[in-house]
Amino acid sequence: MLAAVLHAPRDLRLEHVPTPEPGPGEVVLDIEATTLCGTDLRLISGAKTSGVRPGVVLGHEIAGRVAALGEGVSGVRVGDQATVSIVVSCHRCHACLNDREHLCENLRLIGYGIDGGFAERMLVPADAVASGNLVVTPHEIPATTLALAEPLSCVLNGARQVRVQPGETVVVLGAGPIGLLHAQLARVAGAGQVIVTNRSAHRRELALRLGATRALDPATADVRAAVVEATGGRGADVVIVAVGAAELAGQALALAGIGGRVSYFAGFPKGSTAEVDANLIHYNELIVTGGSNARRADVVRAVDLLSAGVIDAESLVTNQVPLSRFEEAIALVSGRTGVKTAVVPG
Ligand SMILES: [Zn+2]
Ligand SMILES: [Zn+2]
Repeated sequence: MLAAVLHAPRDLRLEHVPTPEPGPGEVVLDIEATTLCGTDLRLISGAKTSGVRPGVVLGHEIAGRVAALGEGVSGVRVGDQATVSIVVSCHRCHACLNDREHLCENLRLIGYGIDGGFAERMLVPADAVASGNLVVTPHEIPATTLALAEPLSCVLNGARQVRVQPGETVVVLGAGPIGLLHAQLARVAGAGQVIVTNRSAHRRELALRLGATRALDPATADVRAAVVEATGGRGADVVIVAVGAAELAGQALALAGIGGRVSYFAGFPKGSTAEVDANLIHYNELIVTGGSNARRADVVRAVDLLSAGVIDAESLVTNQVPLSRFEEAIALVSGRTGVKTAVVPG
């Protein structure tokens, strides 16, 4: 079968590999769509290397269908539409025992260490199947929608830490796919105002269509003045940094009001440091947090939200590319063309 294999940083090859067959306890999925994300580009370029196995099939935002079951697998049937929770955790370490299995000390990730979804088929390992990492949809939804369960699950994990309350003002810095999911989720949680920033007019327009109340171009607008004005001088209740630019770390603190919660949701470039006015945290009693990956429960919740149509994923998936032209998908994502790019086999 065809697969996008990362042999080493900057050595990604589209090649034929053996089609997986399920052993005891394993499940094989037919891939129907896998979306490409900025993290994949960082894995390909070598900007992110931890947990990556040379020779791995990339792809962690996966929509598939159960194609074959190994001996002893129960609870799923051939033909079920399914996605996977990509974090395969140990269930024993301190993080796992404290509701943070997604930060497991012994974790393995599908699409990093375990073969992922940029292929025609994918094997779900037995320990992942036994742990419930295979998540079946309650009813059929478009594959390109289901693929967004992974990024949405990460956004849910981030959101549970800042806990938006009804009527609050939320600022989302960056309106890429992740920022647009954060903005939608904030509205669903009852935010009174959602202010997003992005340099692209198209993305600002989309943000407004998806529920943002204001969309600012940070190149021309004074974002802080706009937030101050929108909140009667108080500042935002929640600020989410959804783009990995280190200078935003300081800016985000300055946008938050007294008791505000700030999430450095995006990963910053490895080794980058940021200067912040620490007194903003001290005097305003800010709570600063982050977010990385997601629990199985977050993935189940994400699938529920997508199935119910509460989150609009369809508007986000603007490009579709066949697996045989994987290079095109990379060019679309690195060129920020559209919003989200799906790769489909066949
Ligand atoms: Zn991703
Ligand atoms: Zn663990």
